[in-house]
Amino acid sequence: MDFENEFSISGDEMFQLIAELYPICRSITGDGVRKSLEIIKDYIPLTIYQEATGTVVFDWVIPKEWNIRDAYIKNSKEQKVVDFKKSNLHVINYSVPIHAEMSLNELKKHLFTLPDFPEWIPYLTSYYNENWGFCISQQEFERLKDDTYEVVIDSELIDGFLVYGELLIKGRTDEEVLFSTYICHPSLCNDNLSGVVLLTYLAMNLLNKDLKYSYRFLFIPETIGSITWLSKHEDTVKNIKYGLVATCVGDSGPSTYKKSREGNLQIDRIVEKVLNDFDEPFNIVDFFPTGSDERQFCSPGFNLPIGSLMRTPYALFPEYHTSADNLDFIQPQFLENSIKKYIQVVFIIENNATFLNKNPKCEPQLGKRGLYRKIGSQKTNILNENAILWVLNLSDGKNSLLDIAIRSKLKFLEIWNAAIELYKVGLLEKVN
Ligand code: ZN
Repeated sequence: MDFENEFSISGDEMFQLIAELYPICRSITGDGVRKSLEIIKDYIPLTIYQEATGTVVFDWVIPKEWNIRDAYIKNSKEQKVVDFKKSNLHVINYSVPIHAEMSLNELKKHLFTLPDFPEWIPYLTSYYNENWGFCISQQEFERLKDDTYEVVIDSELIDGFLVYGELLIKGRTDEEVLFSTYICHPSLCNDNLSGVVLLTYLAMNLLNKDLKYSYRFLFIPETIGSITWLSKHEDTVKNIKYGLVATCVGDSGPSTYKKSREGNLQIDRIVEKVLNDFDEPFNIVDFFPTGSDERQFCSPGFNLPIGSLMRTPYALFPEYHTSADNLDFIQPQFLENSIKKYIQVVFIIENNATFLNKNPKCEPQLGKRGLYRKIGSQKTNILNENAILWVLNLSDGKNSLLDIAIRSKLKFLEIWNAAIELYKVGLLEKVN
């Protein structure tokens, strides 16, 4: 499979899809999620599932569905001093409805700001604790005068559904690769429309391909969505051999890989190899039990082989969970760079194999098989002789191509190319 040529990836197109999804007010439930999934469905054939409010999922209960039409704060001159229509971050996500008049002092108990970043609006939620409030910039806060304010949050919390999207691309085996992302954040780009769009484009590119593994894509509300999904798939998760949670993949920071809970699994080795092969700075961090849905996938009762490949991790960039995580904070080039790394992970998952050298007593003569460098030969220029010698030496039926690539410090692609050529001339036999 020649992945490089078969994939069509454009950071600009990915960015455009983020820009389309950006204005929608999403939450863990509600019409914002439905609308977002419908847009993604124009790209990939998602199946949309729903689970009713009140459904018990392990230790949790699916909450009421939240929808919001409008919200504002008006001063006594009828001027809107805070307007949900200008930024959906202005309302604490999951705020209960309210329509009241109050003094500034009373109102201040429900206002939240970021004094360290006076121009930014914070993003706050109150999912499992009925409450209401507004998030505003410190500058807006300081402009508020003593007055009587009309406070309106036109929202509803009703018995409804938790909605999520899923796509299974069937491969030749039932063994699965799980890619998961969360669709519950309102107008925030890096966390996590970048992850949503990366997986949309990754799935789009895997459709209609001849694949060894089956690929399952989840677009779920964070935490409650993965808990819900796991509660319905307890018996089938054993098929998951590899997995990644996609988040924060559009900023300018270096790639960061958060390992699986076990820390030494094949997925961990593959991602580390991919990052090495890209010749760019990167970070690898051990698993920790905060973060995103890997917390659920890697809970001890599941302990799935799932890590998370990001750029700057959530909470480590100041723009995280603020209005500054906007369309200016992410760039097409970084989205494109991130998805190429995901594609390379898939490439290794699909193409890693173990071979046996059929001429193990001393080196075979490469020249007579056309594998020795010939000056001016286009064909052999792509072949790294060093890679050929590594593959021949380590292909004892035990080392996989990934093992050889890691040990030789050569790129997986070079090792794989060498193995293909050696296989073609009959010097290797495939073991598995
Ligand atoms: Zn977040």
